[in-house]
Amino acid sequence: MAETEQTPHDRTSRDRTPPDRTPPDQTPPDQTPRDHAREAVVEAALGRLDLDAKARLLSGQDMWSLPALPEIGLKSLVMSDGPIGVRGVRWTADDPSIALPSPTALAATWDPALARRAGALLAQEARRRHVHVLLAPTVNLHRSPLGGRHFEAYSEDPYLTGQIGSGFVDGVQSGGVATTVKHFVANDAETDRFTVNNLVSQRALRELYLAPFEAIVENARPWGVMTAYNSVNGTTMTEHRHLVNEILRGEWGFDGFNVSDWMAARSTAPDIEGGLDVAMPGPRTVYGEPLARAVRAGRIKEQTVDGAVRNVLRLAARVGILSGAEPAVTEPPAPIDGEALAREIAHRAFVLVRNEVRDEVRDEVRNEVRNEVQEVRNERRALPLRPGTVALIGAAARDARVLGGGSATVFPSHVVSPLDGLTAALPEGSLTYAVGADPNEELAVADKGFELRAVCRDTAGEVIGSGSAPSGQIQWMGDDLPAGVTHAALRTVELTGTFTPRDSGTHTFGIKGLGAFTLTIDGTTYFDDVQRAEKDDPFVTFFGAPMPRAQVELTAGEPVHVSLTHVVTLPESIPLKVIGFTLAHQEPRRDADELIAEAVESARAADTAVVVVATTERVESEGFDRTDLRLPGRQDDLVHAVAAANPNTVVIVNSGSPVELPWREEVAAVLLSWFPGQEGGAALADVLTGAHEPGGRLPTTWGSLSDAPVTRVTPSDGELPYTEGVFIGYRAWDKTGVTPSYAFGHGLGYTDWTYESIEVDGRTVRIRVRNSGERTGREVVQVYLAPTVRDTARPARWLAGFAGVEAGPGESVEAVVELPRRAFEVWDETANSWAFVKGSYEIRAGRSIADRRVTSTVTV
Ligand code: BGC
Repeated sequence: MAETEQTPHDRTSRDRTPPDRTPPDQTPPDQTPRDHAREAVVEAALGRLDLDAKARLLSGQDMWSLPALPEIGLKSLVMSDGPIGVRGVRWTADDPSIALPSPTALAATWDPALARRAGALLAQEARRRHVHVLLAPTVNLHRSPLGGRHFEAYSEDPYLTGQIGSGFVDGVQSGGVATTVKHFVANDAETDRFTVNNLVSQRALRELYLAPFEAIVENARPWGVMTAYNSVNGTTMTEHRHLVNEILRGEWGFDGFNVSDWMAARSTAPDIEGGLDVAMPGPRTVYGEPLARAVRAGRIKEQTVDGAVRNVLRLAARVGILSGAEPAVTEPPAPIDGEALAREIAHRAFVLVRNEVRDEVRDEVRNEVRNEVQEVRNERRALPLRPGTVALIGAAARDARVLGGGSATVFPSHVVSPLDGLTAALPEGSLTYAVGADPNEELAVADKGFELRAVCRDTAGEVIGSGSAPSGQIQWMGDDLPAGVTHAALRTVELTGTFTPRDSGTHTFGIKGLGAFTLTIDGTTYFDDVQRAEKDDPFVTFFGAPMPRAQVELTAGEPVHVSLTHVVTLPESIPLKVIGFTLAHQEPRRDADELIAEAVESARAADTAVVVVATTERVESEGFDRTDLRLPGRQDDLVHAVAAANPNTVVIVNSGSPVELPWREEVAAVLLSWFPGQEGGAALADVLTGAHEPGGRLPTTWGSLSDAPVTRVTPSDGELPYTEGVFIGYRAWDKTGVTPSYAFGHGLGYTDWTYESIEVDGRTVRIRVRNSGERTGREVVQVYLAPTVRDTARPARWLAGFAGVEAGPGESVEAVVELPRRAFEVWDETANSWAFVKGSYEIRAGRSIADRRVTSTVTV
């Protein structure tokens, strides 16, 4: 065991009296004169509020906002999801938002500066839609590949997560919009998320789960956090005084506001005393009137309420909605081209995990290898594509899956599918398309071919208003109803219009939502009954699966009339006025073997086969975890068959999180495209044709479920023990000694890199790399620390820093990586503080955790 030393600045938190909240006469540390001036306005405004107004301010007035308090010149503060766009206060495709690639994709760029630009774009989107607070980023860790919202978080590594998260937060806030770093903390899976008690050691909390939050607070000073649904070590996170008041605010100096996850706040006194400032959504929450009553009854000190109000007013002042206070950002930043940035992030994020020699040059290359000509030039590999014909295959190649499900959903104005992107990029006549396999076993929101409107009626059946319905999904929150319609008068909503099929055959129609529905297609009523909840998650109406209710024979091109009427009853389980239901649809299902045979024929006839495989919304979304890592439907069979027919088969994996790739050794190339955002197809064409190289590196280890070291996401008796301690992700793969399919940090570009030297001076590491290939490229130089004497309580190695460098062919360039002190520290549970571990460390620089190129040793 190496010697340890206490970090001087870390006093033990045990010795401290827990800071209640920042007392009224004390402003947070590190303030500029502008912060001081803003703080004075906040104090003055606070002093003018009575208890009822204060209590009201801490409680959502509806799904997304806090009440305005005109008496102090405070406007209503508006919040909106989420990490890849800004949905705004309406859950509808009529109010589009840019859709960037999934957070896993952003992390795969390993580029905090690019994350900053993504954040700045989202601030622009937020300002356009009058949103003050973005409910992002999600910085929970990829503890297990089964985590349902894996696609929405960045990485299995806390350092990479903290770096990407810091860039993102800094970018959003540079546009004058607040972030809420979420979900504080250990919301790493979805099963029983409202009640699960995650049992996590202090060491794992500090070294893994808290670490990204800590780094972001230190680097980017976020103006908000969101506390999670789950409990940690017996206390639900909205009441977690120790983690919120003592660590987040006390130790780290966080001075932003703390909002509950939606419906997470379940108590009044324990929540406010646990450091929760705002309970969302409203109008019925544990704050507001219950909070004022609790103060009057002497159960809560008014000073405690003041602390929370101060945090909200400070936030309001920062985002410019408290009169008299100068906002943090006074000049709107220069406009950003959102589509161009979405496309750039996508190609920078694509991870090329395999790129073999093309079939026609394989013999030549074999001879060269025999003659010891070692290097296989990139132009002889499967990607980028050579001129020739391409057979594009896969349901997701045509109906692209560009984002994950749940609250991260946004509605882009358009989506560029791989088919659109390649059609535009390849010469006419060189591309064919076949479905091959359709993994969408369930019905999807009715959109393609539907022309719908929403008609609102009262109890007498009279029309009282109508609204547009760009898709079959209705989500009306609060009082956001079509013009002239009120909740008091509204009795039914009818989605009505036409559907023009693109294929002949048996079409299935269905319904998502709870309550009474009547479904009529072409004059025949197929369903007239009530749908009831099967699960008690109140968001099931948003995220659950639609129920198939009608099967109708239709002819391509011949429109039919469709109507779905819903009798409005506001569900008791949701203290909100939400009208939400969906008309869903599924295309005729064709025989699966026939589809594969057709795709095989098209592959055989082309020079290259490009197969797009994907997960579905049933696999990656919110409110549930995954049960396996397999690609849904017959997609694996499809790839095996296509690969057998065409040796130049390239597979594009369109998923937000790891999936098993049982055919990976049979195909020429595998490119992970994540959920690539609205411009994904254009970016894919850029990369396949070689206009850009794929720039991504894995932010998380990819392997099969049977090999994955941490897979438990289901609590028993309400508890989920994180028995693996600090061993998640590559830390755990290293421990088990199993080689994953693709290592953390892995990713090939279109050029080659030679690592020439490494020099270490104190904690500064300089690595010289040369672009030894034939085109300009970007390399992510990764630095890992490995103690030379193994300590089994510590991982064998961990990411300590990285740097992106660019160079032209033949050029050499130096990557400079500063190793943070924290990389040498462990959390000492006995002393309750960080301990610097002295000793000798190998410093390994390379292309992934498994591909080490140069090494040095330091003794600290
Ligand atoms: C999610 C949050 C989200 C909130 C509002 C919750 O269910 O966990 O991430 O910000 O809903 O949509």
